[in-house]
Amino acid sequence: MATIGFIGLGNMGAPMAANLLKAQHKVTGYDVVSTPVGNLELQGGKAAASAVEAAMAGDIVITMLPAGPQVRAVYLGPNGVIAKAKKGALLIDCSTIDVETARLVAEEAKKAGLEMLDAPVSGGVMGAQGGTLTFMVGGTEEAFKKGRPILANMGRTIVHAGPSGNGQIAKICNNMILACSMIAVCEGFALAEKLGLPAQTLFDICSTSTSQCWAMTNYCPMPGPVPAAPSNRGYPAGFTAANMLKDLRLSQQAAGTAAAATPLGAAAATPLGAAAANLYQLFVDGGKGGLDFSAIMQMVRRNGNSA
Ligand code: NAD
Repeated sequence: MATIGFIGLGNMGAPMAANLLKAQHKVTGYDVVSTPVGNLELQGGKAAASAVEAAMAGDIVITMLPAGPQVRAVYLGPNGVIAKAKKGALLIDCSTIDVETARLVAEEAKKAGLEMLDAPVSGGVMGAQGGTLTFMVGGTEEAFKKGRPILANMGRTIVHAGPSGNGQIAKICNNMILACSMIAVCEGFALAEKLGLPAQTLFDICSTSTSQCWAMTNYCPMPGPVPAAPSNRGYPAGFTAANMLKDLRLSQQAAGTAAAATPLGAAAATPLGAAAANLYQLFVDGGKGGLDFSAIMQMVRRNGNSA
């Protein structure tokens, strides 16, 4: 049994913390919003009045925050988690953030004598609830060995991707590939519809042919062929279009840094990723950011018109 401070009890953090409680760990939680902290208490956890109070309660500190700025705000500074955490505590950030922030925060932790892992996840809210997340982990081998049994209470697949920041690299590349494949599947089904080929026929052929991919066979954006997909229920969010745009922006920011010497920057390094980011931007600007990311099918079906 470990003592764990958990900061950020949102859509993902709340069920992850609940799984740690189910595994008999002592969890002290904090969120800027009070309701999820109260819910954690009802499940046997303890409430903290601040991020630092939660951090000071744990031999392990886990954060699940929206983005890089919140991670910097929580970890850095004289009253941040790094300054106040217990000696020898292991810090694990599960948020999806920019590689630069992940490396900076890990470096500051190291200076303070603390180990830190970046451990972003794949699997969405259902994976968080079911304890079946995939963790992509950056950090030292020793820190990974220490963190792995805790992560195993919240996930099924835990991969050490290398040094600090590498977990975030894996995450943003995975989501860039997913966004591109989702849009490609949308375009294929929209074109087939315009040309008079039924969606089910295209699915039956493509799902056993070379264009087969997760976006098609598990999450088909065209209503019909995959009954459990959000497309059959008006695209309620599993993973929102706004979050996909956020991750595409992170991939473009990283690609821009990697390709800084080329005149076109990110667009040259990842032309499809750049196009996907622009299409998701258009979709989100049309007021659809709260829908599932597969809802971009609606815009593709309307020939790129987001309204
Ligand atoms: P969310 O917005 O539901 O949760 C974030 C929580 O952090 C909120 O409850 C918010 O109140 C809290 N918070 C913000 N600033 C804080 C601070 N300074 N101190 C304490 N709490 C603070 O987001 P989420 O869906 O749970 O996602 C969390 C992270 O996981 C994001 O980086 C997201 O990109 C990533 N992610 C989400 C999914 C998904 O399907 N939702 C899937 C994979 C990865």
